[in-house]
This record gives sequence, C-alpha cells and structure tokens, in this order.
Amino acid sequence: MSSVTTNELAARSAEILESLTEIRSRVASSSATSNAATLVAVSKLKPASDVQACFSHGQLDFGENYVQELEDKAKVLPAEIRWHFIGTLQSNKAKTLAAIPNLYSIQTITSTKAATALNRSLPPDRPNPLNILIQINTSGEESKSGLAPLNASSAEVAQAEAMKLARHIITECPRLRFQGLMTIGALERSLSVGGENDENADFECLKGTRDVLAKALAAEFGVDKWGDEGTGRLLLSMGMSSDFEAALKAGSDIVRVGTGIFGARAKKVAR
Ligand SMILES: *Cc1c(COP(=O)(O)O)cnc(C)c1O
Repeated sequence: MSSVTTNELAARSAEILESLTEIRSRVASSSATSNAATLVAVSKLKPASDVQACFSHGQLDFGENYVQELEDKAKVLPAEIRWHFIGTLQSNKAKTLAAIPNLYSIQTITSTKAATALNRSLPPDRPNPLNILIQINTSGEESKSGLAPLNASSAEVAQAEAMKLARHIITECPRLRFQGLMTIGALERSLSVGGENDENADFECLKGTRDVLAKALAAEFGVDKWGDEGTGRLLLSMGMSSDFEAALKAGSDIVRVGTGIFGARAKKVAR
C-alpha cells in the first residue's frame, strides 16, 4: 500500500510545477509565431498523483501509452482532462479506449482495422468526434511503427497507405475525425540537431507528408470533412523532451513531453 505522506506529495507537486513551468516557457518561446502549440504532458508509468499535481497547475492535455494504465487513471482523475493515447494500439483494445469519455485523441493509428473498431465502439451520443492522427514512420526504422511517408515526387499518392487510411476514416468512420500526423523519429537525429540552421530530417519528412496528403484530400473531399475541427488543416505531432524546441521551430503543433516534466521513468514492468 502507498505510504506517501502529505509532505512528500507537496514536495513532489512543487517539483513538478517547477519543471512544468520551465517546459511551458520553452514551448512558448519556440512556437512558430501564429499558432499556439499544444503541450501534451506524457505521464506514462507515473502515478495519478503526478497527473493531479500538473492538472492543478492548469495542465489539461496528458499522453498515455498503455490502455490499462490510461483506463485506471481516467477513472480517478478529473473529467476535464484531455487524454491523448500515444502507445501501440491493438484493435482488440479499441473498445476499452472508446469507453473513456474524455479520451481526446489517438495519435498512433496505422490500420483501417483499428479505425473501424474504434468507430464501432464509440458511443453514438459522444458530443465530439474522436481526433485521430495517423502515425508515420519517418525514420524508416524497423523498431518504429507507422505508415510510409509521402513526398512531392511520390507516384500514385491516391494508392499510398496513408492516403487510403485517411480516406477510410473520412468516408467510413463518422465518429472519428482525421486530425493530423504523428511521428517519433530517430533518436540520433533528435540529438544531433542543435545549431541554428540544423534541420531534423524526420520533422521535414512529416511536414512533406502532411503537404502531399492535404493537397490530395482537398482535391478529393474539399476541406470541411477533415483536419483540426474540420478545417482542412492537418496538425503535426512531433517533438519529445530531447527535441521539442527544434520540432516547434520546424512547425510542430503538438509536442509530447514526458521526462522533461516528470523526470526519468522506471522501466515498464510486464503485467
Ligand atoms: C514516452 C513517449 C513520449 C515522451 O518521451 P520523453 O522523452 O519522456 O519526453 C513521447 N511520445 C511517445 C510516442 C512516447 O511513447
């Protein structure tokens, strides 16, 4: 059982406020001028009390990687929280996720099967569609999941996996909204970017994919059936603790920061 004292909780809350404040100001100063980026606090493997501490300092967006952990936390934490699922999604877990009323987005969709399962499981009276980002494997690493990126010279964009999945979400999944693209990217690239003019190939790749996809979708569907709030604007979710400033300078809309806010994580224990 927990033996955490009130004093320990207060100290932890102060520690979290300090790092959250620092990350927020770095996000604000790196954001590309016009649009305010969303900071998703990645709370995987951290206790609900850490999330509560962040929430009490005004943080609303949180990211989780494991379905069971998210379900457990969502039950005990405030309903105002916007949960972003950023872990590997198996179609058989779609039902559990879909039952979380304040689930705000799923950033890791890579298959029509998962999209269909989610759409089918979401309650018909859900006030807003569930935001969906398609994960793109910009670094091409076998260890990373995601669909192949696209670029201006890609032949047969209409038949590309990412385009087929976007089309499926738009035409077959009324309870989902195709909101944007997400990438993790290669660690070496995030660590090697430091100088003023350095470009991270993963970020450029995700932007290029977004541009090609947005153009093809606009030609096929117009601009009011997809994108953030149905505006035809696809959001980019890229940037983590080690590289979120570079990602924001490259035009990221959503950064996912865990370690920078909550400190290092223990290794995931198999359950
Ligand atoms: C864990 C995780 C993060 C946060 O990583 P940090 O390096 O701790 O900021 C971001 N995105 C995804 C997909 C993750 O799994």
